[in-house]
Amino acid sequence: MRGERPVAAKQKFVYSFTEGNKDLKDLLGGKGANLAEMTNLGLPVPPGFTITTDACKVFLQTGTEPGSLNEEITGHLVALEAQMGKRLGQADNPLLVSVRSGAKFSMPGMMDTVLNIGLSDASVTGLAAQSGNERFAWDSYRRLVQMFGKTVLGVDGELFEEALDEAKHAKGTADDLDLTAADLEALVATFKAIVLRETGRDFPQDPREQLDLAIHAVFHSWNGDRARLYRRQERIPNDLGTAVNVCTMVFGNLGEDSGTGVAFTRDPSTGAQGVYGDYLQNAQGEDVVAGIRNTLQLADLEQLDKKSYDELMTIMQTLENHYRDLCDIEFTIERGKLWMLQTRVGKRTAAAAFRIAVQLVDQGLIDLDEALHRVTGGQLAQLMFPRFAPTAETKPVAYGIAASPGAAVGKVVFDSYTAVKWSRSGEQVILVRRETNPDDLEGMIAAEGILTSRGGKTSHAAVVARGMGKTCVCGAEELEVDTKNRKFTTADGQVVHEGDVVSIDGANGRVYLGEVPVLPSPVVEYFEGTLHAGADVQGGLVQAVHRLMSHADGRRRLAVRANADNAEDANRARRYGAQGIGLCRTEHMFLGEERRKEVEHLILADNDKDRETALSSLLPLQKGDFLELFQSMDGLPVTVRLLDPPLHEFLPDITELSVRVALAEARKDPNENDLRLLQAVHRLHEANPMLGLRGVRLGLVIPGLFGMQVRAIAEAAAERKLAGADPRPEVMIPLVGTVQELELVRDECERVLAEVAASTGVNLDIKLGTMIELPRAAVTAGQIAEAADFFSFGTNDLTQTVWGFSRDDVEASFFTAYLEKGIFGVSPFETIDRDGVGALVKNAAQAGRATRPDLKLGVCGEHGGDPDSVHFFHEVGLDYVSCSPFRIPVARLEAGRAAIETAGSDSR
Ligand code: ADP
Ligand code: MG
Ligand code: MG
Repeated sequence: MRGERPVAAKQKFVYSFTEGNKDLKDLLGGKGANLAEMTNLGLPVPPGFTITTDACKVFLQTGTEPGSLNEEITGHLVALEAQMGKRLGQADNPLLVSVRSGAKFSMPGMMDTVLNIGLSDASVTGLAAQSGNERFAWDSYRRLVQMFGKTVLGVDGELFEEALDEAKHAKGTADDLDLTAADLEALVATFKAIVLRETGRDFPQDPREQLDLAIHAVFHSWNGDRARLYRRQERIPNDLGTAVNVCTMVFGNLGEDSGTGVAFTRDPSTGAQGVYGDYLQNAQGEDVVAGIRNTLQLADLEQLDKKSYDELMTIMQTLENHYRDLCDIEFTIERGKLWMLQTRVGKRTAAAAFRIAVQLVDQGLIDLDEALHRVTGGQLAQLMFPRFAPTAETKPVAYGIAASPGAAVGKVVFDSYTAVKWSRSGEQVILVRRETNPDDLEGMIAAEGILTSRGGKTSHAAVVARGMGKTCVCGAEELEVDTKNRKFTTADGQVVHEGDVVSIDGANGRVYLGEVPVLPSPVVEYFEGTLHAGADVQGGLVQAVHRLMSHADGRRRLAVRANADNAEDANRARRYGAQGIGLCRTEHMFLGEERRKEVEHLILADNDKDRETALSSLLPLQKGDFLELFQSMDGLPVTVRLLDPPLHEFLPDITELSVRVALAEARKDPNENDLRLLQAVHRLHEANPMLGLRGVRLGLVIPGLFGMQVRAIAEAAAERKLAGADPRPEVMIPLVGTVQELELVRDECERVLAEVAASTGVNLDIKLGTMIELPRAAVTAGQIAEAADFFSFGTNDLTQTVWGFSRDDVEASFFTAYLEKGIFGVSPFETIDRDGVGALVKNAAQAGRATRPDLKLGVCGEHGGDPDSVHFFHEVGLDYVSCSPFRIPVARLEAGRAAIETAGSDSR
């Protein structure tokens, strides 16, 4: 059955291309599975066979290949030789093969393909005679020695490159085609001498030995440093192993009527249908992408070789219909005969992904569920960033790594101090560094964007910028950054000084000099409602987004709410499709000159009367805030979190205040209030405020505080109801660790609600719930549910407390090292840590529902807007996710995808 491993009496380690199919990627790797699929579709694939990932696993575990492998390979080789009518390396008429790695997921660091295996001093003349082309034979041989020497024997590839350049130089040419048979024969001798010198052994002349060594080298490459690192970062399991494909050679280097090419069934950057690809005459293997000669556009092949071109077009159509998706293809033409060497579902840009998905629906190839499955929240997020509108004359001066998307323009600064200073005076700045470290943090916060000349996607700059949602281009190595002299130099010698303007594009890593105009995203305009869903802009992009969003909304079970503290955010959230507010923080309602004073009074109060006075002046201010918010979210739930942060955050800075008090004392003019304030600041000072007096603890030690907040909520709701509106507040108690805390606060809240209901005559139905953000709360969720109408998982604090990380400190310090060492694939603050934090969420959800089956469950940490995490929250049965307004479309889309996702999909 397709997709299932065939069960054989004895484990089978080698499959002919005629035996496999595309659903056997676990066993045959992506390349092998697709070669088999094409073979079985009747497409012209050179015959060959695939050695399974199982064989690789055995080899890696035991250090030697499975006992039966050698025999099986021999069997398949004999069959291949019979089919081709020649033997591997046969002196007068050699069969040649390529050895190609191919794991389930294509990954960097695996062994490069070795072509022309089977050539030797003996068979090279046979090949020359057979093909009637001496030059071709020697060109193929020198390629074999070069590739084999480098990838199988581990010789430094530069040595061969230098020798090749020397040969061309001696000939006075830069074109490898100008080298004659004799030149190439001499080069082979040079290459062989290099192999001998570097490895202490001769280049192997026995074809079977060549084959076996190459196969083992592929197995070994699975554990190469680069491959391992990539797997850790991409969370690809280490035990998958790679398959090895042995494929009969076909030759694109037999003359002008031969060549090699790559093609896409549609444009991978826009999704437009048409003919896309490159072709190189008289060339082999990677020549076409290596940039050794200028390639032709695929369309030009029609003039050169109409027959092959037409056949290729037909095959591309066949593949697209068969895979029901954009395919990329590698092919070779040997003397006018087309051969298919690879295909797979091709990578594409975010915009192309949306357009292609919808086009395929319209063509009747896939349904909307499948279309939705093929686009991601990450792609949607990319489409929502503003973009540069480069004109013809704006050429990038450097290409770095696209580390964190966005389009940022600003004046160049080279240190954190200047970044902060300039941005305070209203300048937009781009912080340019060779690489960043924790000392640059303030500057990074102040800057519009960050540009570095060193480091990759897991460098400090990249990690921190992504965490902050800030545009970042890193590793722009062409730039010479000279922080000491406050300048950088581009590859073509232009010098950029502090204060000069640059533009950086974090979506594609491009760096421009001067100010490039920024265009708003049409997708954002669509969500904002300023662009109609049917608007035909950017090749139907908005229409495609609209159709897939609508489908996601129709499919998803999770509701999506917003984290919003004010009417402006709430209104935006509504436009973006929020179904309520999942987290309204009330702390900002305690800020501002006037409110701060009252909070100070509250904190300083040492008797009930003073305290009540302070609370009653805060009450109307809070109520006013809630009135606005309930108006924005009329008819939808608004979860209000009672005060959470430690009190000292509302008090003056300890140093400033101490100085003030000391000065006043020196002047013999002490200020009574300042003195009391300073005492309070000292009293409330905490070594570790994150774990200190905050959340529910505040409510319990400051009499009347939570009561006042609940009263403001209830009175605002009553007022709206009396005016005929439909307010739906919910009250949420933060940082509860035990049900006793919640019960005490709950009693107080219920008393206040009853009072307001009685005095206004309005029937208030306000739910009281809690955040689950401490491990103890998660573990005792069954008890806590007895006093809660709902749970909202505060996964930010829960992640901090479960891991014992202080987010503010660790992201900028050791996370880079952790990511590089592969301890995380991604920060647990970005994507929920399923095994640790996630397990607590899952168990707490179950325990809570066991106590109270109608318990409402949501999440309000930033994970609520993260694609992977949304899938997790769907799986564990939450009712809603809540995220920042800008992430709402992403959450809607991913909630839809989670709902349709079928088991066993391997989209990566
Ligand atoms: P990659 O995984 O890097 O794409 P491939 O195994 O596809 O490596 O090999 C790279 C290129 O080598 C192919 O695109 C093709 O041009 C060439 N190649 C591989 N096998 C053969 C073959 N049997 N005959 C001719 N060319 C081949
Ligand atoms: Mg390939
Ligand atoms: Mg919290």
